Amino acid sequence: MRRRSVVGAGFVAGGTMLGITSLAGAAEAFGALKKSPRMPVIFVGHGSPMNAIGDNAYRRSWQSLGAEFGTRYPKPQLILCVSAHWLTRGGWYLTGMARPRMIHDFGGFPQALFDQQYPAPGAPEAAAQIAQAVRQPLSGAPLSLDTSEWGFDHGTWSVLKPMFPRADIPVIQLGMDYARPPAQHYQVGQQLRALRERGVLIVGSGNIVHNLRVTRRDAAPDQAYDWAIEFDRVVADQLANGRLKELSEFRNLGSMAAQAHPTHDHYLPLLHAAGAVDARESPRFFNADFQSASISMRSVVWG
Ligand code: ZN
Repeated sequence: MRRRSVVGAGFVAGGTMLGITSLAGAAEAFGALKKSPRMPVIFVGHGSPMNAIGDNAYRRSWQSLGAEFGTRYPKPQLILCVSAHWLTRGGWYLTGMARPRMIHDFGGFPQALFDQQYPAPGAPEAAAQIAQAVRQPLSGAPLSLDTSEWGFDHGTWSVLKPMFPRADIPVIQLGMDYARPPAQHYQVGQQLRALRERGVLIVGSGNIVHNLRVTRRDAAPDQAYDWAIEFDRVVADQLANGRLKELSEFRNLGSMAAQAHPTHDHYLPLLHAAGAVDARESPRFFNADFQSASISMRSVVWG
């Protein structure tokens, strides 16, 4: 589960900023995406990469959630996935290739996990339009297209493959500028909100508590460290009460936050997902337990 970073060299700039502060007035910018009923937003706690192939409650929940698209929810035109495993510098990036490659970004797992494929297409035209229309209003950090470097890392494919096994919905991944403060990650999510009315399913893939330094593999799902339980509870309370802006201030929780996130890469996808949500939307929690005592699997659907 190593982290990879990319730098700006070799990337195609995402075009000029259009000065659009609200995408609601920018429908014409998304010619590649048809108008739709408002799509839900999902945050998935992905945990161990083995959840992608193990027959456990997490994977089964992803399968049943995916089955709600086409029944309870419209089938997405496009999936935009914010994975904890794509950390960038110098701005945010969107995958802009037609056929994103598979990235098996882990070590020490069975060959069956390295054999996994998820051949969903990319969406170069839609990615280019999103990159042009979205801007980071306070930082000036651009959203650029990556046409050669990234693809689908396991934060994306380990959850999307169980959810949408046919791999027939185009997927683009969003890379997060890890150097930027948490509040800016929430603001990027706000910039994505209007995409929900263009058939885009926004998926954040990370973990609300994620400390790999103290995992206990034999721990039952209801056994976790006190600080993990408490951090998860505080975040769940903020989510349940629509206090979404407070999510960016998690460091104010002090040592508990430092234990929950020695690095905070797995928390940032939650900020993108929450930013795309209206605070009045009620969250639906699932998988509200722990893997290996220090990884919260709590997941959320809004809408
Ligand atoms: Zn991960």
